[in-house]
Amino acid sequence: MTHAAYDWLGHSLATIKKANWYRTPKTITSRAGAIVELEGRTFVNFGSNDYLGLAGDTRLIDAAVAATQIYGTGSTGSRLTSGHRQLHRDLELAIAALKQTEDALVFSSGYLANMGAIAAIVGKKDAIFGDQYNHSSLKNGAKLSGATPFEYPHNDVEALRLLLTTHRHNYRRCLITTDSVFSMDGDLCPLPELISLAAEFEAMLLIDEAHGTGVLGATGAGVAEYFHCTHQPMIQVGTLSKALGSLGGYVAGSAQLIDFLRNRAPSWIYTTGLSPADTAAALTALQVLQQEPERKQQLWANINYLKAHLKQDELVPSNSAILCFGVENPQQALTLGHLLMEAGLFVPAIRPPTVPTSRLRVSVMATHTPAQLAQLVELLRDSCSALMPHS
Ligand SMILES: *Cc1c(COP(=O)(O)O)cnc(C)c1O
Repeated sequence: MTHAAYDWLGHSLATIKKANWYRTPKTITSRAGAIVELEGRTFVNFGSNDYLGLAGDTRLIDAAVAATQIYGTGSTGSRLTSGHRQLHRDLELAIAALKQTEDALVFSSGYLANMGAIAAIVGKKDAIFGDQYNHSSLKNGAKLSGATPFEYPHNDVEALRLLLTTHRHNYRRCLITTDSVFSMDGDLCPLPELISLAAEFEAMLLIDEAHGTGVLGATGAGVAEYFHCTHQPMIQVGTLSKALGSLGGYVAGSAQLIDFLRNRAPSWIYTTGLSPADTAAALTALQVLQQEPERKQQLWANINYLKAHLKQDELVPSNSAILCFGVENPQQALTLGHLLMEAGLFVPAIRPPTVPTSRLRVSVMATHTPAQLAQLVELLRDSCSALMPHS
């Protein structure tokens, strides 16, 4: 492109590079799993959301292939026109059964589920109160909706109460939004307190269970189940792309909510139905989750091993499969990440502006072996004492 109208692209890219914010994707050349080949080298993978190790599971792959043989590769249309298959409905009923909600609706991604649900249920006359650390899809959903956004400090229930007291009466409907497991820290939202506040201020509550589903709660239903809040009124959003090893997102809630979304959520109405392969893989993942509770138990055994063996003062408080190892500055995060890569461990370094403080973000999988976990503990201990001699 030579037209002057596009010159700004080059300038913007240069600015991004100058700020050290420039990023490119790394190519994985093997099947998903606890061990992956990354640009030709083998690594123990501590950077994947595949918490239960299902994305490379033969049963999910076989189900995806079988569904493709039956229905073809594409759903060929939006669900309301020619894109709906019984498989979609089976998946929605399985999600509703896991979440113990009346119904559920499957979207093409978790991002689109949040955007679609939020934009459908609130508008210009309404207000959204969201946690400061909420996922990008919740924040952009709020923008798309046109509702007035308020942000409260991370997990600060008293600050939220104050905001609601001050502003709630100026708006028609009100929505509180939060990650259930915060994706960059691994801590949980104070769900029981949020449910009480929502009831007190006549607000709806939407929780994003992207990192909770398959990981937390007795049956893996998520943070709602973990806090014994399963049947409380709320809107539960999530993804099929993390512990469930597939692709797609969902909203679970009352039959009326789901019926309304089918008629009013633009990111569901005007997009092609989930592919048969993804739908079948997710459905199989839900069956495996139910049939093999030992997977989740093994995941927690691995999480607890790391929590017990990594230095407590360097671990960001977490109650999930996301464990963050705090370091002093962005450079240290990068150096530590490189040291670990040299030793054959892939652990992403997360830096500002994504997060306020630099860290290595460890994603634990059920399929990590004791030897792999021990290697991580040992390498983090050794490289940290080399990097930060005083700690
Ligand atoms: C990953 C993630 C999403 C988006 O889910 P996709 O299915 O990958 O689009 C939404 N919310 C949170 C908190 C996430 O971590």
